[in-house]
Amino acid sequence: MARKSYFGPIVDVSFDGAVCQHAAECVRGMPRVFDTGRKPWIDPGVATSAELADQLRTVVGRCPSGALAIVEHEVAR
Ligand code: SF4
Repeated sequence: MARKSYFGPIVDVSFDGAVCQHAAECVRGMPRVFDTGRKPWIDPGVATSAELADQLRTVVGRCPSGALAIVEHEVAR
């Protein structure tokens, strides 16, 4: 399965279902972003503040398989 991208206002998240180990770190860490009962199940649109974006970076960093990755937006200079 190819890596898919999910877009948010501050950061995007990419996900590769082929390497996900279903450890549910993401669902436990930020259930409003990662909700397996919803389509799409990843919604970085919830991370609308710097604090929530930081929390999302932390939760993605805990993904044990590398299935999740943060994609930072380019900063305009
Ligand atoms: S934390 Fe990573 S490995 Fe675990 S369910 Fe979420 S995406 Fe899959």
